Amino acid sequence: MKNTLTLSLQELVFDNRFIDRLPADPILKNSCRQVKNACFSFVEPTKVSNPSLVAVSTEMFEELNLDKELIHDDEFIQLFVGNTLLPGMNAYAMCYGGHQFGNWAGQLGDGRAINLGDVITRNNKRWSLQLKGAGPTPYSRTADGLAVLRSSLREFLCSEAMYHLGVPTTRALTLSLTGEKVVRDMFYDGNPEYELGAVVCRVAPSFIRFGNFQILSAQNDIENLTRLIDYTIETDFPHLDSSEEGIYLKWFKEVCTTTADMVVHWMRVGFVHGVMNTDNMSILGLTIDYGPYGWLENYDPDWTPNTTDANGRRYRFENQSQVALWNLLQLAEAIYPLINDTRPLEEILKYYRDYYQQQWNNMMAAKLGFEQSSELVEKLVEQLLKLLAEIETDMTLFYRALSEIELDDNAIMDEGLLHTVFEKAWYLPEQVNEKYLPQLQSWLVKYKECTEALDLTDSERKNRMNQFNPKYVLRNYLAQQAIDKANEDDYSMLHELLDVLRKPYDEQPDKEVFAAKRPEWARHRAGCSMLSCSS
Ligand code: AMP
Ligand code: MG
Repeated sequence: MKNTLTLSLQELVFDNRFIDRLPADPILKNSCRQVKNACFSFVEPTKVSNPSLVAVSTEMFEELNLDKELIHDDEFIQLFVGNTLLPGMNAYAMCYGGHQFGNWAGQLGDGRAINLGDVITRNNKRWSLQLKGAGPTPYSRTADGLAVLRSSLREFLCSEAMYHLGVPTTRALTLSLTGEKVVRDMFYDGNPEYELGAVVCRVAPSFIRFGNFQILSAQNDIENLTRLIDYTIETDFPHLDSSEEGIYLKWFKEVCTTTADMVVHWMRVGFVHGVMNTDNMSILGLTIDYGPYGWLENYDPDWTPNTTDANGRRYRFENQSQVALWNLLQLAEAIYPLINDTRPLEEILKYYRDYYQQQWNNMMAAKLGFEQSSELVEKLVEQLLKLLAEIETDMTLFYRALSEIELDDNAIMDEGLLHTVFEKAWYLPEQVNEKYLPQLQSWLVKYKECTEALDLTDSERKNRMNQFNPKYVLRNYLAQQAIDKANEDDYSMLHELLDVLRKPYDEQPDKEVFAAKRPEWARHRAGCSMLSCSS
């Protein structure tokens, strides 16, 4: 029996404002080209031969009010690989540019993403549906517009995991196989192989990036730049008054705030985006474009998962807030023609620095159980980060272990006990020597002293800390194991991970295996410790 609270596909309500209000590329032929004075190009997804559904996000189904039984319908399966469109959908690829690794790259655009339209839910929320890997667009340049299962599974799983972690992110509704093979030279070393083709249906309130504004500014198309900003403020920042004087600066400040908030969350959970180019920066401060991202295992602030970034390490863990600032500066330059005064833009960028620092301090304090930061706590954090980097310490596991330790002098001085509590976070036990242990103990004593003012019991402190410190994250090697199995047609691990990562802060006693530190075999394995942009 049909659940009357949920919707069939035909009942979805679309409002494709982006294409209704913004200038379209007049050329309809799907061939690669430079697109001028337009925000998007109409393009049809490429049809595929034998699609199948691999996984869905039940939370996203609920959000869209969709009936879960739809997963059994052929129409649903065909729709989310791009074989059919619903009435009300109108497929298009966005035009944007961007700075890649610090250099202006000109036009980039949705080279393999095709927007289907915006769904308006019963709660009046806007969700753009976008297929990634559904064939070439005018922005595909020399590439094929396709995606492989390996990278699609990583995007699907990680974006949903980030959502459950409370990190602002784009979402994913479906992961499908196309039934076709795609050639990829994974390490750009002359060894191309056939991989399984896949499509993810991504979902976000908007997929607009810094680069959408940059391309219009680079073309000196101020009229359309103004239209795009006005559209964005009205559609995606409805709480701002678009007619107010100084609204563009107010809006830019808000972009700075949400971007800072996003990066603080990344630092909290140990996420490294890996390709923070300006075309990969969402105007809503959402984590977007899951490519060669990675999760910190041992706390190494210099780590970058992206092999293309191995030399300059521009996108290393510790540098993410700086890169976000650099990207915001590029956005400021792009909107400058509408402001005509550098001073207020510089002030807002300074605000970003101060705001980020303050939010980061508070976040680090919360990871240790404190309600807010203080000079004392800042010092404690500084010492802790040195300690974490001194020997190979799993960041995620360390904070959970720290929440478990009893803060009394006897416990702190009991080396055997310290080993029991922390050894799951130590990669190389031989590093835990007579030099290291006293440092840890002296830090714990200071920590104990700081927490005394809190007047919290150990269990209260633990409960508080465990809301900020996840137990389960999408460890690089776990994603790779799920990929290896999926490539053999076994999706059990993908589904199990999807399930475990729904409750990343909860103890899940029968799922401890997913909270284990990286095994030694994964230390240097491709896909586990290093990733290429090939996807
Ligand atoms: P990324 O590094 O994934 O952010 O991609 C940078 C640019 O390359 C974007 O414009 C993408 O749309 C485009 N791109 C990446 N992979 C492909 C592909 N396989 N086919 C077409 N365009 C792609
Ligand atoms: Mg991208």
